[in-house]
Amino acid sequence: MAYCGSHRSHAQSLVSSQITSKLPDIGTTIFTVMSKLAHDAGAINLSQGYPDFEPPPALLERITHYLHSGYNQYGPMAGVPELRQVVSDKVKACYSLDTDADTEITITPGATEALFVAVSAVIHPGDEVIILDPAYDAYDPSVRLNGGVPVHVPLNAIDFSVDWQAVEDAITPRTKVIMTNTPHNPTSAIWSEDDIESLRAIVFRHGLHVIADEVYEHIVFDGHRHESLLRYPDLFQRSFVVSSFGKTLHATGWRIGVCVAPAALTAEFRKIHQYVSFATNAPLQYGIADFLRAHPAHYLGLPDFYQKKRDYFARALANSRFRLLPSQGTYFQLADYSSISDESDVDLAKRLTREIKVASVPVSVFCERPMDARVIRFCFAKHEKTIEEAAARLCGV
Ligand code: PMP
Ligand code: GLN
Repeated sequence: MAYCGSHRSHAQSLVSSQITSKLPDIGTTIFTVMSKLAHDAGAINLSQGYPDFEPPPALLERITHYLHSGYNQYGPMAGVPELRQVVSDKVKACYSLDTDADTEITITPGATEALFVAVSAVIHPGDEVIILDPAYDAYDPSVRLNGGVPVHVPLNAIDFSVDWQAVEDAITPRTKVIMTNTPHNPTSAIWSEDDIESLRAIVFRHGLHVIADEVYEHIVFDGHRHESLLRYPDLFQRSFVVSSFGKTLHATGWRIGVCVAPAALTAEFRKIHQYVSFATNAPLQYGIADFLRAHPAHYLGLPDFYQKKRDYFARALANSRFRLLPSQGTYFQLADYSSISDESDVDLAKRLTREIKVASVPVSVFCERPMDARVIRFCFAKHEKTIEEAAARLCGV
């Protein structure tokens, strides 16, 4: 009776089934929003960052092999030993750092999980974390979900370099971590050795830890070298260095990443990782280990491979009204549209998706405070044909 007759009790049960959001200001990620818009509009999707080509056939063959050979149950919590050893060898070859594959390397379901777990490992309620804006959108919520306080410091307006004085000024006794990202998404800027020197001074002066997002470590252009924190043993001692096989192997859908950190930090990282996801997809790990052992030079081809795509995209847009900003790494290209429109970047990105059917990502969504620049981001990890078609449409704007 009470159930059938009373609207009030029904309404009350609805209310009591609601929860208080931990992220009341957050909706769906811009990548999901723009990719859905692109799909619904039938647009060429240069928004969310992923290749429209396949991973290497030899890699697919190895993974298929393991899928059919009884490797489909839980793998080790920290990751398959063979893959951890391959990562350790690669860290030595690329950055001259000795790491212990047993105690310092953890394979994770994507860099996203690794970043979240690293934040969880160091941040206690009230701890502050320096985030450089524009910033990859996962950082801020990861900090807040762990009770931390994100402190956003804008990058310099023109070239997206770090204003190290502004970073220093933002540090308080509660600051525990600085999150770094080079090559940088969404701006495509890379760090120099001078940046590392500035970081080092701040980290040691204030006893900070670093969560280093280096998912584009192998996509650096124009002969520059990637300034990994793994090159600097003193900084490494205070760092979680995160990378993504999704980027390196053209397979973002596989959700597989890695965290390299000194043993004491890795021990804390694994305490949390084991309860977030326990372990990472086993057959993928065996397959990737085989592939990278057989093709250790795979990484070395990536700068040239993606630089050609960057240059192809730039040439194709040369006659457009977009002004392309320097892209020093990643597979993204920022385009200034101030001579085209006064619209906000969000409005423009959505309108271009609907009208000319090319999807991009607005950059202001990665900033806590409004940005001066009018820029949108394109992903050029695409076949030449895709780039040509998108550029032809963009040249008409
Ligand atoms: N950090 C940055 C800067 C990224 O661009 C991405 C995504 N592409 C990630 C982290 C997450 O990587 P993953 O797909 O391996 O979770
Ligand atoms: N990192 C990708 C990008 O910047 C998107 C990743 C995602 O959608 N979670 O486009």
